[in-house]
Amino acid sequence: MKARLSHRTSTGKRDWIMSWRSPRDPAPGPFSYGLDPGTSLQLLMWNGTRPCWRNPVWMGHDVSTNYINAGTVRTAVVGSEEEIAITFTVPFGAAPMRYVLTSSGSFQLLSWNGTTSAWDTLESWPSNGCSNYGRCGAFGYCNVTAAPAACRCLDGFQPASAAEWSSGRFEQACRRKQALPACGSDGEGFVSMPSMTVPDKFMLDAGNRSAEECAARCAANCSCVVYTYAGELGRCLVWAEELVDAQMIGAAGETLYLRLPVPIAATSTGRNAVKIALPLLAAALLLSCICFLWFRRFRGKGTNFTESQNKLVPGTGTTNTSSEIGEVDHTCDLEFHSIRFADIVAATGNFSKTLMIGRGGFGKVYKAKLDGGQVVAVKRLSKDSDQGAEEFKNEATLIAKLQHRNLVRLLGCCTEGAEKLLIYEYLPNKGLDAILFDSARKAVLEWPTRLGIIKGVARGLLYLHQDSRLTVIHRDLKASNVLLDAEMRPKIADFGMAKIFGDNQVKANTKRVVGTYGYIAPEYSTEGVFSVKSDVYSFGVLLLEIVSGIRISSTYGIMEFPSLIVYAWHLWREGKAGKLVDPSMAESCSEDESLLCIHVGLLCVEDDPSRRPLMSSAVSILENGSASVVPSAYLPAPNQPGYIGMMGEKIQRTDLENSRNTIAMTVLQGR
Ligand code: ATP
Repeated sequence: MKARLSHRTSTGKRDWIMSWRSPRDPAPGPFSYGLDPGTSLQLLMWNGTRPCWRNPVWMGHDVSTNYINAGTVRTAVVGSEEEIAITFTVPFGAAPMRYVLTSSGSFQLLSWNGTTSAWDTLESWPSNGCSNYGRCGAFGYCNVTAAPAACRCLDGFQPASAAEWSSGRFEQACRRKQALPACGSDGEGFVSMPSMTVPDKFMLDAGNRSAEECAARCAANCSCVVYTYAGELGRCLVWAEELVDAQMIGAAGETLYLRLPVPIAATSTGRNAVKIALPLLAAALLLSCICFLWFRRFRGKGTNFTESQNKLVPGTGTTNTSSEIGEVDHTCDLEFHSIRFADIVAATGNFSKTLMIGRGGFGKVYKAKLDGGQVVAVKRLSKDSDQGAEEFKNEATLIAKLQHRNLVRLLGCCTEGAEKLLIYEYLPNKGLDAILFDSARKAVLEWPTRLGIIKGVARGLLYLHQDSRLTVIHRDLKASNVLLDAEMRPKIADFGMAKIFGDNQVKANTKRVVGTYGYIAPEYSTEGVFSVKSDVYSFGVLLLEIVSGIRISSTYGIMEFPSLIVYAWHLWREGKAGKLVDPSMAESCSEDESLLCIHVGLLCVEDDPSRRPLMSSAVSILENGSASVVPSAYLPAPNQPGYIGMMGEKIQRTDLENSRNTIAMTVLQGR
């Protein structure tokens, strides 16, 4: 069954849903719902001519079809030259459904309940105060990641009337803290605000643009105050004069770039980075980069430890490469700026206990502030670590070749004498495990955040397997190797065990199995065979952990079942998979999305690697299916898991010579 709301761009003809005047009077009422005639990129509900609620803007990951809205109905945006339409599809055999726009301005999704012979309300919008259109006024936003949700002003803005705002009235909106300098002068820049919904009053800058083109077009247009960019479609949205109806929603959100005076842009802390987008400056920056690379190429390395993804931090003066001092180890010379051990000692307060933020198989991890003010994480290889020089070298050389928003960035390294240190970007929310499995903290991981983490890890893994220049098998994906940034976006860490595959290589055999029990695929732990599919297995385990909040190594919360995987599969088979959902986020959880994730998780942990999806399929199902586009019924049913690995310990086993077909598993070396 399919219904549609369309807008024929050639004739201007549009479909609408109108409310009744009152529950008993079917005459047209004040509320209407349909495609935004201005842009066709969003659905709007009006009270008369005043907007009162919006669907999320369709930023799109697919050229012709994309999906918005949650619920059991598949909602797709279908675009052609002549017409844009939203289609609503109910899966075959599902209960009858209908959308209703009530006379009091509530848009509802109802489902027929055969048992009670009544319509059940599945969802109802606007769903909370924040989703009332324009609640926080122009240049304000509603922060739904805060508890309770609250109105705030965008970076560089402040309430026009502090008194009004403190009494909960936001009509007077926000105004600039400081006027913009003359357009095109050096005194302005763009600051990024991630995790936002796309505000209203945008204009679509037509054409397929790159991020740089989008930035340059906004910078070149003096009336452009904000822009945002959606990569896959090259969609560039710009705002002139004002923007309204923004929300801060966490990891699933988009990044807005705000034009601000440079002093504010430069001091905007807690955001990603100042992004100077003026074409002239960009050109100057490009020129300096070319000079810098030339200088580095021909004059040797080790001038500064400064460069990170999109910000330049003042350096600390001349540093030496490791080969100049003590033991000769060229690992760090290969790919990085080196940093002097003495500078790390200074930055970590001589490896002060108070700055220690973690400890793993490699050694201790410290938070450090470099001279330029950049905060980093420093991993110091412990002398008694069983991960030695080989893992160090692997991590340092491999991760340098990889760059993706969902991989942790290695900024530099240091080898002096026996000291081996790796310097990473600092992720303030640290390891996922520390939040996910902590009953006091896990509630901050609401469902949209968890889904964002699942999708981010999936994209990072897809990049490793397929989209980077190399095929990389991580071999130790687990919750503690997923780090979270300030916005709870995930970054895969720890490439010490990773392996690169050649162009036509699909699997490899090793006598030395490394990884963490519970996350290791059966064929890898018993036969030493690893491939992209062994990473997919680990991803499946992680996915089930994220949905359930239960550690793979735990026996708590899985009834009498031997493992989380078996428990999840039994619930699935009984049609009770919803029970797996972590109760601490049950309220924020979308049933469809979580069921889909559990289904994907169970397919990823299939015993037979050939039955596991590739990460490209997993990503596509999660991206498109998260709004019930790929109902679980369209995916293969997961098979009963037979393999029950030992849980939780980190392993290295070296007994696999002649051990093909071995089923029994012995931990040779735990740690
Ligand atoms: P193992 O080495 O056994 O796999 P692990 O992954 O927990 O365990 P590490 O990668 O050494 O070990 O990290 C230890 C802890 O240090 C992490 O759990 C995390 O809390 C913290 N940490 C590591 N890297 C960073 C970083 N870049 N930013 C912030 N915290 C970090």
